[in-house]
Amino acid sequence: MIGAIPTEYVGLTEDEAAERVVAWLREHDQLEKRESYRHAVGFCDRSGTRIQPLLSLQWWCDMETMAKRDRGDRLRAREVPSVCARPCRIDWLKAIRPWNVSRQLWWGHQLPIWYCPDGHVTCAETAPDACAECGKHELTRDEDVLDTWFSSALWPFATLGWPDDTPELRTFYPGDVNSTARDIIFLWVNRMLMSGIELMGDIPFHDVVIHSVILDSEGRRMSKSKGNGIDPVELIDAHGADAMRYGLLKMSSTQDVRFSTGRSRKAAVSRTSSGTPAACC
Ligand SMILES: [Zn+2]
Repeated sequence: MIGAIPTEYVGLTEDEAAERVVAWLREHDQLEKRESYRHAVGFCDRSGTRIQPLLSLQWWCDMETMAKRDRGDRLRAREVPSVCARPCRIDWLKAIRPWNVSRQLWWGHQLPIWYCPDGHVTCAETAPDACAECGKHELTRDEDVLDTWFSSALWPFATLGWPDDTPELRTFYPGDVNSTARDIIFLWVNRMLMSGIELMGDIPFHDVVIHSVILDSEGRRMSKSKGNGIDPVELIDAHGADAMRYGLLKMSSTQDVRFSTGRSRKAAVSRTSSGTPAACC
């Protein structure tokens, strides 16, 4: 049945194609009935639209090779509190999976991949003069860019002049402390450690201090799109800078906190759980 469907649906969204497929089935007297049923559907956190699977060719990074090589070195970095170390880093390393590193965006580090007219692939640090396989000079660079976390993983040394051997790099790499929230340990901290070991031969910091995330009063992350953020300047105007500093320090813990100025003092800072911290990563 699928094989008989014309290829005119290629490139349509799922909604567009669904209506046209139904019309086609009806036209060819193949439609027995339409009925609604319940099933799990994912929605985009940013746009609120339904997520539609789209198969496409992507570039992947073989993480197993690096993970095996770096496993011992990575364990030299310490998380504070240490309760996050196992789920966030050790288990991640044990169950390491290939990393999809290509993204179809305008901004980012463009992939160092070039194609010749025959479709051969040349990977090089600088723009090559010719195809590595057939020698043709008409090369086109892949338009994809690297996953933002791949670029962010280079931050500890790229900001100090790497790949050049600069005085700043020699002076400030490796650093001592990285302060972060739990939710980007997996995305950022792990990958900074991986890139540091791989490209610099050493971990970029020895201690990872994990702090709370300030949520809104309903337990949602604050974001520009939701408009549920707080303006610290307004809080300072209302209560003073010292009061705000004290308030933030008082809230600080290993658990996320719900923040609201409209509640009683006791309820203003309510933790998401009273036991162990919420799930890492
Ligand atoms: Zn070629």
